[in-house]
Formats: sequence, structure tokens, C-alpha cells
Amino acid sequence: MSTVKAYAATSATEPLVPVTIERREVGAKDVMIEIAYAGICHSDIHTVRGEWGPVTYPLTVGHEIVGTVTEVGSEVTLHQVGDRVGVGCMVNSCRECVNCLAGEEQYCIPGNTGTYASVDRDGSITQGGYSTHVVVVEDFVLKVPESIPYEAAAPLLCAGITTYSPLSHWNAGPGTRVAVVGMGGLGHMAVKIAHAMGAEVTVLSQTLGKKDDGLRLGADHYYATSDPATFDELANSFDLVINTVSAVIDMSAYLSLLALDGTFVSVGAPPEPLPVQVFSLFGNRRSFAGSGIGSIRETQEMLDFCAEHGIAPEIELVNADYINEAYERVLKSDVRYRFVIDISTLA
Ligand SMILES: [Zn+2]
Ligand SMILES: [Zn+2]
Repeated sequence: MSTVKAYAATSATEPLVPVTIERREVGAKDVMIEIAYAGICHSDIHTVRGEWGPVTYPLTVGHEIVGTVTEVGSEVTLHQVGDRVGVGCMVNSCRECVNCLAGEEQYCIPGNTGTYASVDRDGSITQGGYSTHVVVVEDFVLKVPESIPYEAAAPLLCAGITTYSPLSHWNAGPGTRVAVVGMGGLGHMAVKIAHAMGAEVTVLSQTLGKKDDGLRLGADHYYATSDPATFDELANSFDLVINTVSAVIDMSAYLSLLALDGTFVSVGAPPEPLPVQVFSLFGNRRSFAGSGIGSIRETQEMLDFCAEHGIAPEIELVNADYINEAYERVLKSDVRYRFVIDISTLA
């Protein structure tokens, strides 16, 4: 075991504080990563505050991790010391269920091992990326292309793959009309990726406050959902709607935006049920779907796609002692568009 510096929550209500945590010995198939940057995801906040169920404290969160390999186990073949790598939302899976065998380990039936707050294969509770080092089995470690700016790469590991996966699965591309609901951490990545895939991209945001950004990042159109005329004007006009909003929305209004065989995919989820009037699915043979992160294979594909297309998240780089303030700003949607912690300020 090694003892490393980290930031952790000690309860659901106290601010995060500097701590030390234990990392396991580097096993035969493990790599040790010296973390350079870690993104702040809204899920981190839900988790440490116990809003998604009880957690064991102290808990270090963070599942948008980039860093450098500093040690490899004797049987590691995929990575070398010095490689620039990333870790996203999961660090292992059962490897034997039908979904794992299909290469969709994010949907591991007994459950994938989350990067934090999950019971690890050895029974310990996984600890995330707000720390100086992490030990991860080699096939859950991604290669981060050098052409992606180092500090901006971290949010690709959650916000990037969470939006890339449904865009790819539902074939966003030339000739398809994609709407992105919400212009936050996930939404701004959906805009960039859908645009790079060649789709016609429309942002549906509460107000026009981020319109200039939306158009700059690749949107073709930008509408305010607070204006009821938006729903009349855009009725029956999208092949795919990616919903990044984690609040209860008027599903009938949003489903009415779908064209023939269109799909509404939620990657954001309110804690409450989201009522759907089934009749609103009959017209245009519409679908209502969900999507969760992406597989390791697909995450690597996303990283390579972003490198090829020069895509990186818009970030605000902060020091470790700013994490609690950053949380408050995330809750107020006061970030353009993702906070990234400079982990060197933790050491
Ligand atoms: Zn996340
Ligand atoms: Zn499995």
C-alpha cells in the first residue's frame, strides 16, 4: 500500500478537506498513475452529499482523471511508464456477464466498479481522482492523445463519453438533425461532438444567455425553451434529442419535437420520476431512451475522435483549495463549462 494526498468529504454536510488515503500495491495487471488533472462532475457533488444513497466516509470523488503512468505491473502490456493516460467513471467490471462479454462493460449486469464509492473487487471502497495517485487495472485505463490539451482532457472521461456514446449509437452525422437540451458541462460537449460528426445542431437552453458560446462551439441554431413559440416552431424537426438536464421537464412538449422515428435520449436524470404521456410516442413512432457513459472501447474511440477533430472541453482550471467554492458554483450553473482541478496544487 502507499499513502497519497487527496481531498475528501468526511460527511454529507461538511466541506471537503485535505486528507491522506491508501492506494493498493501495484498488482501484476495494474498501473500506477500520477494524476495531473481531475474534472469536477455534478455526480461528485450528488455522491458526497449522499443524494444518490448512503456512502462511506471519508470519501474521495472524481471520475474525470488524466495523468502519467509511473509504474506498471509485471504482466501489463497496454501501457508504459511515461504514457499520458486517463480514467473515467469505472475501474473494473465482472468480465463474465453477457454485457461484459459484448464489450459493453458499462452495463455490466452485476454492476461495474465505479471509480469512487463502489465496493472494489478486494472489498475496499474505491476512491476517486481528487488525489495525487491512483492504481487501476490496465484495461480500464485509456490512452489520452498528446494533441488534446492536457488540462482540458479530463472532462472527456465523463462529460465527453456520456454525450459521444448516444450520438454515436443513434448515428448523428451528415443529414441528421440533433437537438441538445441544456448548455452545461455535458451539453457543451454534445454540441462540439455532434457538430464534428457532421450533424445539424440546435441548442435548446432555458434562456439565450449562452447563445454566443453555443454558436461558437458549433451549434447551427439556438433557442430558448422559456419561449413557448420555440416548441411550435420546432415541432417534428429532430432525429435525435440529447437531454442533459437533470430536472423534471415537460416530456410531451419535448417529444413533440421529434420527427419520424426520432429518439429522445436522456443522459441527465432528475431524482424524481419523469412522467410520459404514451400517446406522445405514437405520433412519428417516437422513442424515449436513456444512455449511461460508454464502454472502454468506445471511450478510447471518443478520445481519438476528439484528437482528430481538435475538440476539447471548455474549462476553468482551479486549485485544490477551491473545490468547495467550485461545488457551490456548479450548483448555480456558474461555470463555463467544466471545473478542472490542478492536482499539483494538492501535493
Ligand atoms: Zn461524471
Ligand atoms: Zn459484467
